[in-house]
Amino acid sequence: MTKIGFIGLGIMGGPMAANLVQAGFEVTGYNRSAAKVDKLVEAGGRGAGSVAEAVADADVVITMLPDSPDVEAVVLGEDGVLAHAGDGTLLIDCSTIRPDVSREIAGRIRALDAPVSGGEQGAIEGTLSIMVGGAAADFAAARAVLDAVGSTVVHVGAAGAGQTVKAANQLIVAGTIELVAESLVFLEAHDVDTEAAIKVLAGGLAGNRILDRKAAAMIRREFTPGFRVELHDKDLGIVQAAAREAGVVIPLGAVVSQLMASLKAQGHGRLDHGALIELVARLSGRE
Ligand code: NAD
Repeated sequence: MTKIGFIGLGIMGGPMAANLVQAGFEVTGYNRSAAKVDKLVEAGGRGAGSVAEAVADADVVITMLPDSPDVEAVVLGEDGVLAHAGDGTLLIDCSTIRPDVSREIAGRIRALDAPVSGGEQGAIEGTLSIMVGGAAADFAAARAVLDAVGSTVVHVGAAGAGQTVKAANQLIVAGTIELVAESLVFLEAHDVDTEAAIKVLAGGLAGNRILDRKAAAMIRREFTPGFRVELHDKDLGIVQAAAREAGVVIPLGAVVSQLMASLKAQGHGRLDHGALIELVARLSGRE
């Protein structure tokens, strides 16, 4: 499998497509805004003017789109992947969407749900964690493609299972960012050198990737995404619905969902999710 049609060349999809070009795949990309297609062409890929053109003779189609309705429209809609891809084309949907939508898609077209974790940096470095749901044979067929964009690639079960694992991932990430935000505001209020504090905290049991990758920007109050608040709010909606469906109670998840929703409601949806620190500061009267 060498020909890849790539749809959605945003913060994550752009660097993922560029890494696939680097790995020797023939990548044809399509994005709603054309400037992002030009960037892929600069990186050695081919540009397409429509979904139909991107998938016409692709062995594999990858989608990296914001939300469930976007994936439904691009894959199942009129002039979508299903309408234009050849028989046997394998769809790898890397977007984070609802597990039930992934299962519906897998019922209509040969597909894997393969959401990713690792952020923009992981996408650029090709070191994403990829949680894959779908048939074992399709996972085996997709392995070389997935290995070109990720360093931890795991088949976690049947269609939709990748999205369920990603929901758990988003619960852990949101909760951790909130605790790091609360810790930083607490340290600032006590006039402690926060950079020194992060250094020592990162070496102990409190060490985590948010401290390593996001805390410095949170201290500087730099919130260029990265991962947008509005996307994390979408993901926490998926988490809450899936937890309720399974009868699982997630009290901390519920609180952090409300905080993320509040940040979005206050007009900060397009900031990086590290902006949770602003909310903690505001709640503490420390803007
Ligand atoms: P993004 O908004 O930067 O990228 C999405 C791209 O899709 C945009 O370029 C947009 O123009 C394009 N697009 C939207 N609808 C389209 C359509 N109908 N046809 C063609 N192109 C279309 O978002 P992102 O940050 O790259 O996130 C993409 C997905 O990956 C989301 O589901 C997100 O939750 C998930 N994700 C993001 C990160 C992150 O750190 N940014 C990490 C892991 C997972």
